[in-house]
Amino acid sequence: MRIIFLGAPGAGKGTQAELVSKKAGIPTISTGVILREAIKNKTPLGVSAQSYIEKGQLVPDELVIDILTDRLMQPDCKDGYILDGFPRTIAQAEALDKMNIKIDKVVNIYVPDEKIVERLAGRRSCPSCGATYHVVYNPSEDGVHCTKCTSELTQRTDDKPETILNRLEVYHKQTAPLEEFYRNRGILCDVVGQEELEDTTALTMKVLGLK
Ligand code: ADP
Ligand code: ZN
Repeated sequence: MRIIFLGAPGAGKGTQAELVSKKAGIPTISTGVILREAIKNKTPLGVSAQSYIEKGQLVPDELVIDILTDRLMQPDCKDGYILDGFPRTIAQAEALDKMNIKIDKVVNIYVPDEKIVERLAGRRSCPSCGATYHVVYNPSEDGVHCTKCTSELTQRTDDKPETILNRLEVYHKQTAPLEEFYRNRGILCDVVGQEELEDTTALTMKVLGLK
């Protein structure tokens, strides 16, 4: 199975993708995670991507298409994968077509803009293992440290209020057109993001035919 998770920043793509990944036994490939790792390690990719991410803009297509192409050549991708945060533009979707990659389903998680702001502002993540939390909706055990590995949780620099509004605007302009793109192919599945994480998971599993 090759699955794409679509949705505004903070809609819960990454969280749901991780759960589906465990259930289906296929890896999640998140361009956001790859880019943040590159920034942390100060690689040439990280240096090029950093200023875009911090402003809430998209990293140029050529750059992300290259990293995704490399990643998909890894042996763990041979039985399928979940794409989280890619494609984010029509050009990126067309790049998948050019690689002859056949996508089975696109899960489109919908959360209204007002909710997005609240969600991103409360999001926390673990700098060591990458686990994500929310101060209200999905808190870690003690609220300060990662439940999985005990590192102190941090807030992403692009989750600061001034950047969040930029990211939302970018989403509506550049990424939302992908809904139509995949709806026309008959593979878009809509999931309305719920108040409780587990309820969104149940809807997601249902559209994917997983239990
Ligand atoms: P979220 O979905 O919560 O916004 P991500 O971790 O997916 O977070 O992405 C964080 C940032 O990384 C984006 O705002 C963008 O700058 C960059 N990025 C990630 N994936 C892509 C992509 N496919 N194309 C361009 N930029 C990307
Ligand atoms: Zn951790």
